[in-house]
Amino acid sequence: MPSSVGTPPPQPPPDHEDEKLLKSLRVTDWEAFQGQGRVKKSLYILIAAAKKREDAIDHVLLYGPPGLGKTTLSHLIAKQLGVNIRTTSGTALARTGDLAAVLTNLKPKDVLFVDEVHRLPKPVEEMLYSAMEDYVLDIVIGKGPSARTVRLDLQPFTLIGATTRFGLLSGPFRDRFGVTHRVEYYRPRELLTILEQAARQLGVDIDKPAILDIARRARGTPRIALTLLKRVRDFAQIERDSQVSAEVVKEALNLHSVDELGLTAHDRLFLDTIISKHGGGPVGLSTLAATLNEDTITIEEVVEPYLLQVSLIKKTPQGRVATPAAYQHLGLKPAS
Ligand code: ADP
Repeated sequence: MPSSVGTPPPQPPPDHEDEKLLKSLRVTDWEAFQGQGRVKKSLYILIAAAKKREDAIDHVLLYGPPGLGKTTLSHLIAKQLGVNIRTTSGTALARTGDLAAVLTNLKPKDVLFVDEVHRLPKPVEEMLYSAMEDYVLDIVIGKGPSARTVRLDLQPFTLIGATTRFGLLSGPFRDRFGVTHRVEYYRPRELLTILEQAARQLGVDIDKPAILDIARRARGTPRIALTLLKRVRDFAQIERDSQVSAEVVKEALNLHSVDELGLTAHDRLFLDTIISKHGGGPVGLSTLAATLNEDTITIEEVVEPYLLQVSLIKKTPQGRVATPAAYQHLGLKPAS
């Protein structure tokens, strides 16, 4: 297989148009939400029971790699409950005042969705504890000896936290979520259905082998599958005017350096760095980050999860190691 390991640059982040497209393709009913059977069933029971009791549902923590449907699930939960959803993120809630403003504006049983919940500053996180447990907020007014605490009652609400970094959440915070679910990578069959739904919505005339090829390159991730579909649609619109075939998919995605396993030029450079510059490993995360001029968070959150999933690298106590499959994928010979 042709495997370029040339110059970086990482895949560009989704542009504004991609974001708009992903929003327009967001599924709005449970039937259209594919896969994640265990998570869906458990949430369904949780919602049905809360509705029976006429109560807010327990706080929910969803974790797993980006693009697997955490935000979508949160919208579906709110819709099923018939309540509003207010969405924000750990970085947007920079001060305790920001959190107080959001919480005091919620209506009874509303859902508050906090993306990247691991990025909440500690004082904000701690302020959430009493809000989650007893629906009250303790606000300190004034400074020094004259400071006093005022207790504010809140409406019952449900916090849905989403994170790609479960391990970074403190124990006390994690314990305050009644329900915790890990969202999993999708099987090609599930991605196939997601892509078929999206192609219908977008009016893209594409045959089954072509959809399967996109599904295979999508790294088990709906967001990537939909972005690749867009790339293919754009290519087909300019370069072809017939039905999109597997051949067109191949041409379009080669142009974007996405190979048959869904690896980008950046992923291949990452593997090549372990192999060529560090003898196949083990090599530590910070050394790798320095060699690649990349930050460790991007490596841990974005690059590595999929490479681990498809067994191209292993994590050992001594560092990252390239597996024989990685050598094979790059067309290199393992060191004897
Ligand atoms: P996350 O919050 O985990 O980053 P999102 O919920 O934003 O992921 O999902 C990204 C895109 O993929 C959205 O357009 C969404 O509609 C689609 N998507 C995610 N999961 C599914 C699914 N199970 N079925 C259908 N589409 C999905």
